[in-house]
This record gives sequence, structure tokens and C-alpha cells, in this order.
Amino acid sequence: MSRIVCVNGEYLDEAEARISVFDRGFLFADAVYEVTAVLDGRLVDFPAHLARLHRSLDALRLPAPATDEEITAIHRELVARNALVEGLIYLQISRGAADRDFLFPSEPRPSLVAFTQARPLVETEAARKGIGIVTLPDLRWARRDIKTVQLLAPSLTRMQARESGADDAWMVEHGFVTEGTSSNAWIVRADGRIITRDLSPSILHGITRSAVLACAREAGLTIEERPFTPEEAREAAEAFVTAASAFVTPVVAIDGTVIGDGTPGPVTTRLREIYVAESRRRAI
Ligand code: PMP
Repeated sequence: MSRIVCVNGEYLDEAEARISVFDRGFLFADAVYEVTAVLDGRLVDFPAHLARLHRSLDALRLPAPATDEEITAIHRELVARNALVEGLIYLQISRGAADRDFLFPSEPRPSLVAFTQARPLVETEAARKGIGIVTLPDLRWARRDIKTVQLLAPSLTRMQARESGADDAWMVEHGFVTEGTSSNAWIVRADGRIITRDLSPSILHGITRSAVLACAREAGLTIEERPFTPEEAREAAEAFVTAASAFVTPVVAIDGTVIGDGTPGPVTTRLREIYVAESRRRAI
């Protein structure tokens, strides 16, 4: 079924939508993006996605081509026009078209593209059974806190994980796990403490990470925000990933080592339930 997508404020059939071959998103990955979950036709954690979008735009000195109200309206319009009940909305803002030059154009005309992806987010096989991950080197640049469309390194890494029989990879730098290829990484120790890496330019500041941290604190769970090694992860009682596209998804094998009894653990299951319920409640 053909989708209606948004290009610079125009709503077009996906087959008709066009962007310039000179667009700097295409030539330099000079673009930032956000992926927002949709549940019950409503936007999950949307104010936080807008705030991070501004953080990414500011970091790249990229002017926003639309106001927050307009960006929100685009998301709502895409939900309505595509009758989206559950799935994702992808938003990309690039520095726009300019003759190819490493220097930024002096008068940028940023382009905005947005589209929907309908897919189940709550009832998924990954949530029911958990996923297996392998640890692989982190090949990315130093500013992973900026959500740019430079996704070739995580894409290659995910491919390598799949080819080795795993579902995904956790990336490792200087002996410590940074994050998943498109998710934040978490472990639960046998003593119940929940560990996830602290915020820095080494990782994306996940919106789901921050919402799940709030849920965990609210539930009285003990959290440590610090780096952990692949070895500590393999010895954990539970492990999981968080992302707008995955919510809280259990990890049941790391580098071939079974985590816990090989099924989603109780802390992970509880956090997923709390996060999904809270997201449905707060979605706009
Ligand atoms: N880390 C990376 C590298 C990601 O690509 C993503 C998802 N885009 C995340 C973490 C999770 O972020 P969020 O919860 O905002 O989707």
C-alpha cells in the first residue's frame, strides 16, 4: 500500500516525493533525524523528541525549517492521512540542496522529510522471546550524542551480527559497551541493580532510556549510570535494550552466553509493562 509522505510541507504519494541530488543529507550525511513511536494513533514521548531534535540541530548549526507546532502538526497529519494506529514516524532535517562544497552554504535552505512506518510495537516476537546479541567494535565517530543520519557504521555492524547468527550487536569501545546499533544497552545484576551507561558524547541520549529510567526510579528500583564491560554483561541476571522502535526489549543471549534462564527476566518484563502503559497514558 502506498504511503503519503511529507516533503517540505507538501503531502505527496511516496512514488511522487522527490529530494534534490544536491541535498547535503544525501552528499554529506549533513542531516539529523528523529524516530517517534505511535501507539493508538498518538505520539509517544513527543516533547522529548522535539527537545533532542533541537539539540541535534544546534550542534550542527542547522536552522529549523519549521516551528515545533508545525512539526507536531506534520506528525499528526501523517498519522491521519496514513491511518496509522501503531508504528513509527521518521523525521529528517537536512541542510538542504547546495552546490557540493565541504563548507556550509551561507544561506542554507534546510529540507524536511517525514514518513510513517506501520508495524506492531507492543506484540512482537522480540518482546516475547528476547533477542541474542554479540559484542563488536564501535566504528562510529566521536559525536554519537548528535542524532545524525551517518548510519553506515551501525548498519555494517548490524549486518555482521546477523551474519554471525545474532539479532543485533552491542558496540564496544575501550573495553566498555557503548550501546546497541540502534538502541541503548542495559543489564540487571543478580543483586537487582540496573546498569546503563551514563550520558556523554559516546552514546545517543535515548528518549526511551530517559523515560525508562524515570519508570524504574518511580518503581523504587536501584540504578547505576556507568559503563559496563561485555564480561559484566555476560554475567548479568538480565539484559535489555531500549529504543523508540523497541520500547524495552529483552536480551537473552550475549556472545553465545545465555542470560538468566534464556527467557525475558522479571525486571525487564516489569519495566516493559510499566513503560508501555505509561506511554499509552502520556501519548499526545
Ligand atoms: N542509541 C542509538 C545509536 C540509536 O540509534 C537509538 C535509536 N535511534 C537509540 C540509542 C535509542 O534512542 P531512542 O530511545 O530515542 O529511540
